[in-house]
Amino acid sequence: MIALLIISISPIYAQQNSKKFKVVLDAGHGGHDPGNMGSGFKEKDIALSIVLKVGAMLQKNKDIEVIYTRKTDKFVDLFVRGKIANEAEADLFVSVHCNAHNSSAHGTETWVLGLDGNKRNMEVAKKENSVIYLEENYEVNYAQYDLNSPESFIGLTMMQEEYLDQSILLAKMIQDNFTGSLKRKDRGVKQNVFIVLHQTVMPSVLVETGFLTYKPEGKYLNSNGGQQGMASSIAKAVLAYKKSVDENTGDVIDETSLASIVQDEGMVSSISSNDVVFKIQIAAGSNKLDLKPYNFKGLSPVTMQEENGVYRYFYGETTNFETAKSLQKEANGKGYQSCFIVAYKNGQKMSLSEAVKSISN
Ligand SMILES: [Zn+2]
Repeated sequence: MIALLIISISPIYAQQNSKKFKVVLDAGHGGHDPGNMGSGFKEKDIALSIVLKVGAMLQKNKDIEVIYTRKTDKFVDLFVRGKIANEAEADLFVSVHCNAHNSSAHGTETWVLGLDGNKRNMEVAKKENSVIYLEENYEVNYAQYDLNSPESFIGLTMMQEEYLDQSILLAKMIQDNFTGSLKRKDRGVKQNVFIVLHQTVMPSVLVETGFLTYKPEGKYLNSNGGQQGMASSIAKAVLAYKKSVDENTGDVIDETSLASIVQDEGMVSSISSNDVVFKIQIAAGSNKLDLKPYNFKGLSPVTMQEENGVYRYFYGETTNFETAKSLQKEANGKGYQSCFIVAYKNGQKMSLSEAVKSISN
């Protein structure tokens, strides 16, 4: 009954729904790039094994199409991985890796594209990005990237901004599964500039399944049971994510039809421009930070909003879009190169284009 109703409201939704949900699974490294070899375990083999298991689980769902960047032990250039996903017009990109550190650090973390200015976070991105040096034409293919200063190349486009919330949502679901049923140590959802994530134009995450350098964790990840557990956590998160996207598609339709009703009744002018507030989103992640200027490169005031365990940090607040733009510039100047303007109305997040439209009315 419900399905029929949706189809009758929107043939577009029905069309979209009949299209398969494409998931690109990216096993990190491969071929002459072994990845890290902590405790003698091989990142490239573990990543591939987990990815193949995720794929096998997802393929049982007839609405999902799985695309691999590699299915065997071969070397794939980083930019080719993104290209495969973009050309497939995939709905999701999931890259799987294993971590390493010269300490007893352990636990799982899932990354989305962005900058949070944390030095330790920079290390992981640098390590994963450095694989481009193993490629033949890296000077040409990555000319725009200066690996020593990731801030210089981030420049999130509007499109990537659109994907950030979805990427964080998936990342959170993956981490929750790792720490829930599997009881892995949670290192959280984090942001940094991973080239492989920068090149895709869809919600994208990079999963660090654990530290091979920490022997008990390396042993777990190298075992069939461990790989099975990690794989089913990722697969379940993808399915839960798909479900939430499917549900949201329905919501959007409801909002649109509601908006057209409001418009018909000539109520648009009653929306007060004072209701729209702009803020600058400077960081997001699963870590709760004190709202002190020293945690935000001197910026103040910073506000925080928590949703499903993800904390978003905002600089400033204004009802004037031009002021918002200068606040963004200021945050840029402090090193938040990927910060962006968000709009809220009566405490509810709204799309920026809608917000700008509504204040110009
Ligand atoms: Zn890796």
